[in-house]
Amino acid sequence: MTSQVNAIPADSLAARLARPELLSLEPYQSARRIGGSGEIWVNANESPFNRTGIDGANRYPECQPPGLIAAYAAYAGVAANELICGRGADEAIELLIRTFCVPGKDSIGIFSPTYGMYSISAATFNVAVNTLPLAEDFSLPDDISALTGSKLVFVCNPNNPTGTLLPLDEIARVAKTFPNALVVVDEAYIEFARNPDGSPAQSATGLMAEFENLVVLRTLSKAFGLAGARCGFLLASASVCELVMRVIAPYPVPVPVSVIAEKALSEQGVTQMCADVVLLNTQGARLAVALTNAGLRVLPSGGNYVLAFSDDVEALARALANAGIVARRYSHPRLKGAIRISYTSEQETDSIIEAIGRIDSK
Ligand code: PMP
Repeated sequence: MTSQVNAIPADSLAARLARPELLSLEPYQSARRIGGSGEIWVNANESPFNRTGIDGANRYPECQPPGLIAAYAAYAGVAANELICGRGADEAIELLIRTFCVPGKDSIGIFSPTYGMYSISAATFNVAVNTLPLAEDFSLPDDISALTGSKLVFVCNPNNPTGTLLPLDEIARVAKTFPNALVVVDEAYIEFARNPDGSPAQSATGLMAEFENLVVLRTLSKAFGLAGARCGFLLASASVCELVMRVIAPYPVPVPVSVIAEKALSEQGVTQMCADVVLLNTQGARLAVALTNAGLRVLPSGGNYVLAFSDDVEALARALANAGIVARRYSHPRLKGAIRISYTSEQETDSIIEAIGRIDSK
C-alpha cells in the first residue's frame, strides 16, 4: 500500500493560502510511498532481521498507517482523507505553520493567554504572531477583527491554561470572521469538556462541512493517556490535508506507536478512556471545591486541569511544594496569581487536598 499525494483544486481555499512553492512540489518518494509487490523487499536499505517482538519493527512504517487512520476517522466521525496523524498535536501545529506561512511575511493569530506552542512554533519559522487578549472572563472578545490578515488563527478549545470552553457558535463566528484564514481549533482536551447539563461537549468537527477553513487538532496525549507515545491528529478538508502531506516527514508515526494507538482506539480502549475521563473529572470537581473552600478563585474548566487564582499564590505554591506536588505557574501578566493543577487519581487528589488544607499565609 502506498501513500498517494493527489492534485489540489487550484480554486480551493487551501491552494490559495498555501506557500506557493508547495503547489508544484513533488514530495519525497520514499521506498514506502513508491511501494511495489513481491516477496523480497530490498528497496529501502532496511534490515531483514526483526530482533524485537513487534511486528514490522525492522521495516519503515507507512507514512499514514491505514489501520490507525481508519480507527481515528471512525472515532472522530470524519473521512479518512480528512485526517493526518503525526507526532502529537504539537507536530500538527508546526506542520500547519510550515505549510501555509511564508517566513518573514505571513503571520498567525492567537487569543491570549493560551497554549504557548503556537507562538513558539511560529517564531522558529520566522512567522509573526498577532495577539488579541481574551475578554475579562477569558471568553473571546466581541470584536476579533484585529486578527484579520493572519494566515492561521488558533483557537484553543477548551483553552489551556484557563479551561474556558467556547460554544460552537463562537467557533463558527471565528470561522465566518476570517474566511481567508485557516481557523485552527485545538481540541487537545475535548474529551473532558462538558456542556452545562453534563453531556459531552460537541467537537468543531461538526462544523467542518459548513466551513472549508476549519481545521481541528486532536491528540492521544490527554484523555487517552498516551502522552509518551506522541500521537496526534489534524482534521481538515481533503485539500488542506493534501498540502500538509507535502511537508510532513516520510515516516512520522513509528510502528510501536501505531500499535499502541490502534489499541487505544478499539471499542475497549475508547470505553476505558471514557471511564478514565469520568474518574478524572470527578477528582477535578473535588479539587475545585477544596481550592474554592480555601479562598481561591477557580475558573470553570473544560479540560483536565483547574486554574486557581490567589492573592497569595506563593502560599499555595509553598504548600504544594512542601508536599512534593509539582503544579504549573505562569509568567503571563494575567496569570501572575494563578496555579494550574492537572486532574489526577483519587489518592493523589487526596494528597493535593490535604496540602491545600495546610496553606499557611505569611
Ligand atoms: N494543544 C494543547 C492545548 C496542549 O495543551 C498540548 C499539550 N500540552 C498540545 C496541544 C500538544 O499535545 P501533543 O502531546 O499531542 O503534542
